[in-house]
Amino acid sequence: LRLPAIKRRLVHDAAAPPVVLSPHFDDAVLDCFALLSAAAPVRVVNVFAAPPRQRCLTDWDHTCGATDSVEWTERRRAEDGEALALLGRASADLPFRQASVRELENERPPSLRALERAVALAVGSAGEVHAPAGIGGHADHELVRDLALRLARRGFPVRLHADLPYAVRGGWPSWIGGDGPSAADDDWRRFLRDVPGLEPERGHVIVLSEEQAEAKVRTLRLYRTQFEQLDGEERLLSRPGALAYEVSWRVGPEAAEEAPPSRR
Ligand SMILES: [Zn+2]
Repeated sequence: LRLPAIKRRLVHDAAAPPVVLSPHFDDAVLDCFALLSAAAPVRVVNVFAAPPRQRCLTDWDHTCGATDSVEWTERRRAEDGEALALLGRASADLPFRQASVRELENERPPSLRALERAVALAVGSAGEVHAPAGIGGHADHELVRDLALRLARRGFPVRLHADLPYAVRGGWPSWIGGDGPSAADDDWRRFLRDVPGLEPERGHVIVLSEEQAEAKVRTLRLYRTQFEQLDGEERLLSRPGALAYEVSWRVGPEAAEEAPPSRR
């Protein structure tokens, strides 16, 4: 079967809605709540959304309380559907397995070409692409970021988002939170070093109102299999102010238009 060329590549169409590339079932809501809770149309693509081929148990799923990662993946899909529905959104789920499962099943990561082909089949076109920046170094987040960078090189407007909650393990960077030096300053620099043209401290900062932050944490609590573990002892999601910001960087053709940053 030969697919027509148009289906193998994502098409940039300025009139098409933006597409959020979410590596896992919860990343779109974690990183892009402001975008998803706004009125404008937006599409969500869950990239690593396939269950394991056979019954198994990944370390992360075990930590979260699972006994079988196949069943757990379906639970996660259902939770995500519920959370997105609350925001009036639905997702397209791609048939790739996440890194922890690939490791157990000795499977190589998909190529960027294969990822793009699947995204193209799912949504056809995008006006703009949103993806994680890769802060925290999760292999799946980096793959999706690299796909976004590839699209940026082809002329797509792309926005990379700080990966929550990994990005705030050391608190918010000092240039955002303002409470003096923060471990996040170095963390963000280190993880973003390899992203061409991205200056960590020139990110676009969205300040969520208290009401928005409360709505965000309420939505995140719908991810019942994940919330407690992501929140952790440090309460990365539920402590006051934890969800006060969402930070992103423009890469691609319109990147230059964003200077000066909205907040420093
Ligand atoms: Zn993720």
